[in-house]
Amino acid sequence: MFDIIVVGAGPAGLTAAIYGCRAGKSVLLIEKSGFGGQMTNSPKIENYPAFTSVSGTELADRMVEQVMAQGAEVEFAEANKISKTENGFLVETDNGSYFGDSVIIAVGAKHRRLGVPGEDALIGNGVSFCAVCDGAFFAGQEVCVIGGGNSALQEAIQLSENCSAVTVLQNLDRLTGEGKLIEAVLSSPKIKVIYGAAVTEFVGKGELSGVKYTVNGENLLLPVKGAFVAVGLIPEAGRFAEVIATDNYGCGIADEGCASSMEGIFIAGDCRTKTVRQVSTAIGDGACAALAACKYLENR
Ligand SMILES: Cc1cc2nc3c(=O)[nH]c(=O)nc-3n(C[C@H](O)[C@H](O)[C@H](O)COP(=O)(O)OP(=O)(O)OC[C@H]3O[C@@H](n4cnc5c(N)ncnc54)[C@H](O)[C@@H]3O)c2cc1C
Repeated sequence: MFDIIVVGAGPAGLTAAIYGCRAGKSVLLIEKSGFGGQMTNSPKIENYPAFTSVSGTELADRMVEQVMAQGAEVEFAEANKISKTENGFLVETDNGSYFGDSVIIAVGAKHRRLGVPGEDALIGNGVSFCAVCDGAFFAGQEVCVIGGGNSALQEAIQLSENCSAVTVLQNLDRLTGEGKLIEAVLSSPKIKVIYGAAVTEFVGKGELSGVKYTVNGENLLLPVKGAFVAVGLIPEAGRFAEVIATDNYGCGIADEGCASSMEGIFIAGDCRTKTVRQVSTAIGDGACAALAACKYLENR
């Protein structure tokens, strides 16, 4: 039996483990693939305080070192189910089951990919999922945004502040986001929308040089070095909807202190309902969730 079981070892989970251990609690960290989560896909992070520029892998390595030094136990397994027991919670994984007095869900989210050639190879080298993270790398240049919903429109507006031009490639014949965002996009002199545009390939060797797409069967190429894919987010918390309340997108609903609808379960990072998904906000959540879990354990 552990005091705290943390599911997911991205920045939120790693921070939760550090805070839990430092509060003298026994902590088990369960991770299904590799330490560090999404940030390990980023070769350059330039908005994390104290580092002018750092690779996501290096940042993750430093966090992991700190977690290990604090004495957290680690299990590499995929958590499939969390259920309430008489005294706490049972976390079932593909490699055994673990009991915890409390659980912190920090399983993050995945950006939906287009699944076209060149996408995987060029992520972090021109293909991005986050204007806040990577927009500054393309200041003064032309970029494109793929998608037409709220996230895509927000990305386009944000990019238009520093980029010379933004082309929105939308596969439908209309934009599907909120009216105000659509208005802002359509009235911006820097943003152009191409409707009925189906992206077929990201082109480039080592770095992006263009985006191939079709409109009405015609093959076209947009020569950009930055392409922002904004076609949806897949939060990983949805699979635990039996024990925690989730929103329509599958994000776990939590209060400011990261407490979920189930007493004793806390939700931290990108997998919870929130508007800003960054390393710094995930870390803030990890700290809040662990401290809230400690308080819960002490008052029970
Ligand atoms: C390409 C890219 C570049 C980015 N660049 C920046 C940047 O420059 N600056 C910035 O601030 N942010 C950046 N971000 C965003 C940032 O990485 C995320 O906001 C942050 O990683 C969220 O942390 P998290 O711990 O909540 O989730 P994640 O990082 O998603 O970590 C969740 C972890 O949980 C694990 N997991 C999931 N399900 C299970 C399960 N069932 N059982 C066990 N383990 C599970 C996953 O394998 C993963 O390791 C970037 C993201 C991407 C994809």
